[in-house]
Amino acid sequence: MNRDYEGLHRYRLMQGPLPSLFCCIGDPVVGNPTQLMMEAAFSQISFPGRYITCTVEKNNLQKAVFGLRALSFSGANVTAPHKTAVITYIDELTHSARLIGAVNCITIEEDRLIGDNTDGKGFISSIGDVRGYRVLVFGAGGAARAIITELALHGAQSIHIVNRDSKKCEEIVSQLSSHVETKLTYEALSPQFLIKRGYHLIVQATSVGLFDPTGALDVIWEKGAHTEAIAADVVFNPVHTTFLQRAQHAGYRTVDGLGMLVNQGAYAIKRWTKITPDVQVMQDALTQAFTIG
Ligand code: NDP
Repeated sequence: MNRDYEGLHRYRLMQGPLPSLFCCIGDPVVGNPTQLMMEAAFSQISFPGRYITCTVEKNNLQKAVFGLRALSFSGANVTAPHKTAVITYIDELTHSARLIGAVNCITIEEDRLIGDNTDGKGFISSIGDVRGYRVLVFGAGGAARAIITELALHGAQSIHIVNRDSKKCEEIVSQLSSHVETKLTYEALSPQFLIKRGYHLIVQATSVGLFDPTGALDVIWEKGAHTEAIAADVVFNPVHTTFLQRAQHAGYRTVDGLGMLVNQGAYAIKRWTKITPDVQVMQDALTQAFTIG
């Protein structure tokens, strides 16, 4: 069958079977470009899937998730503020989703909802091999939790967690430490926090800087990072955050949040379709979304 993406859908609509349905649920979701990169990936792999973006308020979460099953959806992405609450309505969790305590990707197989978390995996793909790494992570929210868990599962030597609310760090360390060999430590974020040399990877996993080009954590960079040291930011809008600009100035190689966003989406596509999409096609769709606005 040699049809373009729209042709494939016309054919499916008239001849069946109907296309597979997917969506992103969250609130707010206006401004979230996931749909564009997912449909670009479906098109590239000629997969007859449709992906839409749905605003789901907190008090409608249960109905929305049960509705996925009723409407024969094949999967969904879950974004803020539902990543933790959605677990109540899921039939089965992957190992990492259980450890992270949050779900951002649902696959519906034989009427069963399987919850996974691809955020941390997407982050690791954007960095590469982290075995033996000494890591400093700012943040202890959902994104940080996913990243810390996958860093530990991928063999990081140590992870030091720094967050405004240190109770959240304590929770992560107490829940994760019996499952991994990585040394986990934490402290509260203090003003003018000094980022010492010696880490292989520094991760900015707070929401500071999101939609705020001048916003940045109140940190001081000790100069002279070794040449391979990486500073990564989860924030993807703006792409070149103030945090990354300052890290670059201090001698770090920088990794922006788009890589994590694209790769977590690619993991979801692979789960749903069993086909590995071209991440460059997805990245291009995102870049276009941010350029056109
Ligand atoms: P959460 O609300 O779960 O966590 C927010 C985190 O940011 C907490 O650690 C919070 O600290 C910290 N924080 C917020 N404001 C401040 C501040 N003024 N000073 C210091 N720390 C602050 O959000 P998520 O973890 O879900 O998301 C965090 C970021 O990650 C967002 O920008 C989101 O867009 C991005 N993200 C990117 C992805 C990607 O693919 N690139 C995927 C998922 C998320 P405290 O606990 O003390 O309040």
